[in-house]
Amino acid sequence: FPPERVRNFSIIAHIDHGKSTLADRLLELTGTISKDSVNKQVLDKLKVERERGITVKAQTASMIYNHKGEDYLLNLIDTPGHVDFSYEVSRSLAACQGTVLLVDSCQGIQAQTVANFFLAFGEDLNIIPVLNKIDLPGADPEKVSRQIETTFELDVSNVLAISAKTGLGVKDVLPRIIEQVDAPNADASAPFRGLLFDSWYDKFVGVVCLVAVRDGNLRKGDRIVSAHTRNSYEVTDLGIMFPNQVSTASLESGQVGYVVLGMKTTRDAHIGDTFYREGSPVEAFPGFEPAKSMVFAGMYPIDSVDYTKLQEALDRLTLNDASVSVAKESSVALGQGFRLGFLGTLHMDVFRERLEEEYDSTVINTAPTVPYIVKYTNGTEKIIRNPAQFPDMEEHAKVAAFLEPMVSGTLVFPSEYLGPLMDLCGAHRGEQQDYTFIDDNRVMMKYALPMSEILTDFYDQLKSRTSGYASFDYEEIGYEAADLVKVNILLNGKAVDALATIVHRSAADRVAKDWAKRLKGVMSRQLFEITIQAAVNNRVVCRESITAVRKDVTAKCYGGDITRRMKLLDKQKAGKKRLKTMAGGVQLPQEAFLTLMRGS
Ligand code: GDP
Ligand code: MG
Repeated sequence: FPPERVRNFSIIAHIDHGKSTLADRLLELTGTISKDSVNKQVLDKLKVERERGITVKAQTASMIYNHKGEDYLLNLIDTPGHVDFSYEVSRSLAACQGTVLLVDSCQGIQAQTVANFFLAFGEDLNIIPVLNKIDLPGADPEKVSRQIETTFELDVSNVLAISAKTGLGVKDVLPRIIEQVDAPNADASAPFRGLLFDSWYDKFVGVVCLVAVRDGNLRKGDRIVSAHTRNSYEVTDLGIMFPNQVSTASLESGQVGYVVLGMKTTRDAHIGDTFYREGSPVEAFPGFEPAKSMVFAGMYPIDSVDYTKLQEALDRLTLNDASVSVAKESSVALGQGFRLGFLGTLHMDVFRERLEEEYDSTVINTAPTVPYIVKYTNGTEKIIRNPAQFPDMEEHAKVAAFLEPMVSGTLVFPSEYLGPLMDLCGAHRGEQQDYTFIDDNRVMMKYALPMSEILTDFYDQLKSRTSGYASFDYEEIGYEAADLVKVNILLNGKAVDALATIVHRSAADRVAKDWAKRLKGVMSRQLFEITIQAAVNNRVVCRESITAVRKDVTAKCYGGDITRRMKLLDKQKAGKKRLKTMAGGVQLPQEAFLTLMRGS
């Protein structure tokens, strides 16, 4: 296939607007998968993704389609659907020349529609609006067309309206892509230049990279170099995703395919990196930056003898997800564990679920934190990824400023929720930047918000205050100064490092009291009295206590019957496995960490 008969495109949509369903239909229509295939949503391969109905890892598939007598090679490049992965979204978009902007014709434009549109717009792609779900009684394609016209200034005079579910109108989508998406601007005679836009670990062959070949071509046996790491590799296999790997003799300019290079770990496969042939360096693709973690949390085994087991499980999992950063850490309260960095909280939740599956046990996941920066009066700075690293009171004299990461959030919602949502953003230290009506009764509002404020209960509040009618998306916009303090939890007078958190001074007392209450709620009575105190920068602001259990209950009820008593004690022992014993003998249930993660 010469470049003029290749089209590289993606589908972008708000979650649940039908991206996976449309992808399945297109693959069926081109015979790439069979119609009665039970394996629907072939692009959502991972189990967690299916369970949650989200796409975390992008998948790509090629299809062949005859249009007006000519065969075309169409490469559907899937993008992760969630904002946590926006860097990966823009890199996968960089491998395309066009995109289908799919909008649910009942729901209309949502926050991720807006965020994804601007990512595609920023990559200078041909954008084809398509209205989905027109089979539903609530569909209002005219209204949604007008929203698209007003918000994105796209031509909707002959917009496609389809039902990905029933297949209605879907046959018009591929011809539209061929006509409106540019062929890749590729130079077949120039030296090889390829964009690495996705990778995964395969236990038989090692790392598999997805590469968009821009110039030149690539064959088995070629030696190529990563512009970022300068590592060189021999290409041991390559081919197209059809939708599974099909080996081919070469990948030609303009094509998209998989490449196996004997790379040992996906940590060496930097999304957005450029490959070139050894000996003929080329200009790298612009905009490359390694994905950076914005949410950090500790993960610890409940029982410290399981540390090695946890480490092995982590090693196996991070082979496949290089966007998770891992550092060893130790906690006075929890012992040896790890500080993991994620792209966002959804990423963290998905990873923890996989980890628990892989490790076959629960892990203690401490409350997530964003990376804060401390600037010292002597001009140096330090990044804090764990509240335990927050400067202590003596060190405070040397601190010039604390900085926190900020985001620009986009909210889309029916106008009746304007008041409640302004309250919500205000309560999360948001500053309004802009709001516009996208039609008679839908508002798009922009707020600058501290990233820490959207980590915990923001989404839940957004849903509950609007009965689920508001959507939210964000992008990072750098750091700003903030008045930060540390909240410590003390159990029987001892600060528990794993329960500390960093918050804005204005919220400190409320968070301190709330955490103390919540802990009291999940901790059970023990043989001695437990006091729970919360302190803001060393100043104790509240105190709760849990009275001691007086007597061994079993002694009373089962006095004579020794076997029943033993059985009951065994049961109790098994139940205790989920408790972490702190220094001083206080036992914390795993639930204690979960309850604090939910924010306040
Ligand atoms: P994604 O999150 O964008 O990938 O959305 P999915 O493809 O997973 O679809 C979300 C839900 O909408 C699923 O339950 C689909 O069956 C349903 N759906 C997708 N397209 C249509 C459509 O055209 N009509 C109707 N009625 N439902 C659809
Ligand atoms: Mg999907």
